[in-house]
Amino acid sequence: MVQSLLRWYKINKRDIPWRQTKDPYKIWLSEVMLQQTQVETVIPYYKQWIKKYPTFTDVMQAKESDLLKLWEGLGYYNRCRNFHKAVNNIANDHDGKIPDLMGDFKKLPGVGDYISSAVLSISSGQNLPALDGNIIRVLSRVLRKKKVSPHNRKIIHNHILKWMKYGHAGDINEALMDLGSIVCRPNQAHCHECPITEFCGAVATGNPETYPKILTKKKTPEYDVVTGIIWKNDKFLIMLRENKKHLGGLWEFPGGKIKNGENKTKALEREIREECGLNVDIENQIGSFKHVYSHFSINMTSFHCTAKNGSLVTTQQKHQWIKLSQIDNFAFPKANHKIFSLMNEMRRNG
Ligand code: SF4
Repeated sequence: MVQSLLRWYKINKRDIPWRQTKDPYKIWLSEVMLQQTQVETVIPYYKQWIKKYPTFTDVMQAKESDLLKLWEGLGYYNRCRNFHKAVNNIANDHDGKIPDLMGDFKKLPGVGDYISSAVLSISSGQNLPALDGNIIRVLSRVLRKKKVSPHNRKIIHNHILKWMKYGHAGDINEALMDLGSIVCRPNQAHCHECPITEFCGAVATGNPETYPKILTKKKTPEYDVVTGIIWKNDKFLIMLRENKKHLGGLWEFPGGKIKNGENKTKALEREIREECGLNVDIENQIGSFKHVYSHFSINMTSFHCTAKNGSLVTTQQKHQWIKLSQIDNFAFPKANHKIFSLMNEMRRNG
């Protein structure tokens, strides 16, 4: 069975940049970027990052704000901050060498079982099954397991471990990941193209897609928010989000959620006063749009504003007045780029 899987992988493996290296730094970076994100989305970010920081030592010397700028648009910014923290931990506690023992590696910020297993199996062939969503799906079908319980994860883990005892651990993990991505798809298992169909328990049921049972997602909340582009001459105000907050370390415009009973402009006046102590005149609306995050979504409306005469920013939060032409020097959440697009559109239309 392992031979069939590896033969299939040799012919069908996806041609992706991090497959051309055994450098643990590059494999680790790719795995961090791939969490919750599609391969096609990650490829340009990965290439840009490696171009700017070709070695692990380059990341040790980098500033977090520069890394966040490169990560801009990829989302889940904690991944980037944790990666940077982990790199600094390695510089201080591991003589600058990525740990090759899983016990040490998985203790680093943002690493854990999956990333340490993937990196160490691929870079140094250690027998460590890397249970990502694709591998769990394929093995749940092969072993005919309906539930992704801790007990069944253990069974899956041990099963793959048996396959690894003759070597090729990294290839086995990557082959199963590719099989899940290309052939054994969540809603459509292409069993006639599968190299391990004769070993699969679910295929005999006639409904392999029902393995494992997918839990229905809870409806996520939706919030109405307002933001203000507060102008002083040809510059506007941006504020740095605190690290401990969602999207921490990124820049944003003042604003926030509309409370019950408030209209948009009243809410914006209040939010700006609370956040930066400014009294503003609210002028024309820039536009409204919806933005979806993993656990909630927002309906955002933005307005141009001007600070009232003599009004000063009073906040502990780091802030800056910048020109529109400077936005590329700062990392903003994706939603803010939608505002920039609307602003540019307004300028073009006069
Ligand atoms: S035979 Fe079908 S269900 Fe089983 S692993 Fe292959 S594609 Fe998936």
